[in-house]
Amino acid sequence: MDLTAHLKHPVFKKVAAAASALDIPAYVVGGYVRDIFLKRSSKDIDFVVVGDGVEFAQKVADRLKGNHKVSVFRNFGTAMIHFDDFQLEFVGARKESYHPDSRKPEVAGGTLEDDQKRRDFTINALAISLNKDDYGSLVDPFDGIGDLEKRIIRTPLDPDITFSDDPLRMMRAIRFSTQLGFTIFPETLNSIRLNRERIKIVSGERISEELNKIILTSKPSVGFNLLDEVGLLELIFPQFLALKGAETREGKGHKDNFHHTLEVLDRICPNTDDLWLRWAAILHDIGKPATRRYLPDLGWTFHGHEVKGSRMVPQIFRQLRLPLNDKMKFVQKIVALHLRPIVLSEEEVTDSAIRRLLFEAGDDIDDLMTLCEADITSKNREKVKRYMANFTVVRQKLKEIEEKDKVRNWQPPITGETIMQTFGLNPGKEVGLLKTAIREAILDGKLGNNYEEAYQFMLSEGKTMGLVPVNE
Ligand code: ATP
Repeated sequence: MDLTAHLKHPVFKKVAAAASALDIPAYVVGGYVRDIFLKRSSKDIDFVVVGDGVEFAQKVADRLKGNHKVSVFRNFGTAMIHFDDFQLEFVGARKESYHPDSRKPEVAGGTLEDDQKRRDFTINALAISLNKDDYGSLVDPFDGIGDLEKRIIRTPLDPDITFSDDPLRMMRAIRFSTQLGFTIFPETLNSIRLNRERIKIVSGERISEELNKIILTSKPSVGFNLLDEVGLLELIFPQFLALKGAETREGKGHKDNFHHTLEVLDRICPNTDDLWLRWAAILHDIGKPATRRYLPDLGWTFHGHEVKGSRMVPQIFRQLRLPLNDKMKFVQKIVALHLRPIVLSEEEVTDSAIRRLLFEAGDDIDDLMTLCEADITSKNREKVKRYMANFTVVRQKLKEIEEKDKVRNWQPPITGETIMQTFGLNPGKEVGLLKTAIREAILDGKLGNNYEEAYQFMLSEGKTMGLVPVNE
């Protein structure tokens, strides 16, 4: 198959010229070739050369116009060049094998086919020659094209070898299957089941990178169900699995929170590409197993699951090597607040309740509403319609109150400093009590949101607490 027409970018000619000058065979390989057939555009181009990849990259850089820095990753024997908005990666063809108990691969120089063999899947093992004799021709020893046509994820070698060499490939199989809508070949899938325990030798960072790619697909439930089916989910994220099951007592059941959560996650995808809001969808009910109670009068309750869930977030982020920064705080906040708009929409929507929600959610209010809308998964269409209509009212009210009162990023008009100066206080309990009283009064609408009214309120409230202003 001649693919010259797909090698329009000038960089391919430069690489070919370097290959010819050095008399080293060079190929485009991996995802870029696969994506040509999938009609997906890609900015990452991987090259493999039968020789020293780092040295070769240097020669290519010399041929490119402008000053191009070569970043060398000695540990991996790879080198990278940024060119236009492309990332070019060069590697020498390798034979590679991991020992069962070690994370360190043994690497030795090899042929193109050796290198193709150690790639994860047949569809990722395609190569295009950049050599004089057969420029543009496809090298496909494992029928990757056939698998692309059949939409199959399959390993080039015996899957037990491929997965044992690098167990992360099990996650990658599921990621590609979810991303591309491909089926995992039965023998490959079986081997994942068999080798699943080996995921334990893979670093948390690599695992969460693949997990995040699954979460960023248009229907992540497919990936999570597969992870569950092969037994990987319980190894990498057991808290999620604990949501599974729906017990019935005295004829009263509750929904299966695992399936509910996956439905919420799928439902939020058309409305956000933000990884962290998607994570909030995954974790919104994570506190349910720990708070589940059966009360004879009320049936099943999960009282406080939003607080419990929010507190579980840091441990889960640590375990999955997700960042322990403001992204995590965002997820915690959304989890903690996720019931508030629902409760609001069930009651009459008062200004003070809206003001309070705006104050607590701040700039994350829209994200919170997006999650709440996705959280309505009832099979009862009337009920869904009613909730959605109520949310529209809540959204409208949020807009009105924000325009009127500006409480989104609001700070109450009286600071702790003013309170301390007025009553001659040191930092302590009284200052906190007064600050809270002023804030609550304003949020409740009992007090105007301005310094004068708040100051007068502080004086009278202070007096009832037995405090005397210093200038009296
Ligand atoms: P995407 O860009 O969507 O993440 P990709 O396959 O194009 O997917 P990479 O994950 O960067 O991008 O991988 C590039 C190529 O390197 C793959 O196509 C595959 O040939 C090879 N590869 C990457 N990771 C592995 C691995 N763990 N085991 C074997 N081969 C791998």
